Amino acid sequence: MSTPKDVYTFDDLRTWPQATGGIQPPPRLSVFGDPVAHSLSPQMHNPGLLEAAIDAQYVRLQILPSQLKEALQELKTQDFIGTNLTIPHKAAAIESMDDIDETARHIGAVNTVLVEDGQLIGFNSDGPGFARAIREEFSIDLHDLRIMILGAGGGAGKAVAVQAAMDHCERLVLVNRTAEKAEALAAELAPFFKNDRLVGPMERLEAIPWDDRTLAPQMDHIDLIVNATSLGMKRSDPELLPASLIQPHHFVYDMVYSPARTHLVSQAKNAGARATNGLSMLLHQGAISFEYWFNREAPLEAMRKGLHGALP
Ligand code: NAP
Repeated sequence: MSTPKDVYTFDDLRTWPQATGGIQPPPRLSVFGDPVAHSLSPQMHNPGLLEAAIDAQYVRLQILPSQLKEALQELKTQDFIGTNLTIPHKAAAIESMDDIDETARHIGAVNTVLVEDGQLIGFNSDGPGFARAIREEFSIDLHDLRIMILGAGGGAGKAVAVQAAMDHCERLVLVNRTAEKAEALAAELAPFFKNDRLVGPMERLEAIPWDDRTLAPQMDHIDLIVNATSLGMKRSDPELLPASLIQPHHFVYDMVYSPARTHLVSQAKNAGARATNGLSMLLHQGAISFEYWFNREAPLEAMRKGLHGALP
């Protein structure tokens, strides 16, 4: 019996029985990405599949943007249960779906595909995974929070903003380096905020420019600050916020999880705020993908253990 490769290719997918012959359990779940070698998803999902006694395993597939459409169709022929999609495929995959759930439609991106009766069904577990992560970390629901998203114009930022809007959060403040993207998103989300929920003098939904003087007066009216930018992964990255803007009443969620203690998390803890990195979102989006594929509760603790064990 052979072991799976760290990364498979599109050519492997087209000849899946030969490429994976003899591998047990059979690889029938994957993550498509470009690049994909860094993905921790196999280390998270495989212990979960084992714990749930499901006769399938999860592998990485290096798929180029030009190969995406065909690769998704191959999932049907090669008897896959489904796949996850990561950078850069989440938005492009939508057009290949036979059906798509409401959250993925609002987010405009698919990160989970279920193959069912020869059809590709698209879901997005990033937003719901974020909601569960916030509940686990801070014991509070998005519904009850005034939320500021830094990096609201990126893919992850949009997923989180849509989830917050769908969950009817108290306030949503969208901030992005390229301001037009935050403004466009605010216009898209406006229909979710058309009710009479009163929260004082501030607008319930705003897109504001990213400068300290505009951010400062907002901070008394925010409970949860989210970093949805890629800043914080490298030591040389510029600071996201001046420390003086973080207050003890804030919850701070940094979607970056490597390094584990990001600069933002350190700053927030020093300011007396509660803060955590993005590992819980990674876990919960994975658990929700599992639920879409198998229509049963995910073996969360086995997945958590696998994920934590895979970290450097
Ligand atoms: P993306 O679509 O490329 O978006 C990147 C975002 O970062 C954009 O809003 C971009 O602003 C902003 N940005 C980049 N450089 C910046 C800078 N120097 N100053 C200010 N803003 C900057 O990427 P993504 O897929 O949304 O991912 C964003 C981050 O979230 C990554 O670190 C990723 O690893 C993390 N993530 C974590 C999870 C999890 O489960 N924890 C899930 C998904 C993503 P512009 O629009 O102005 O370019």
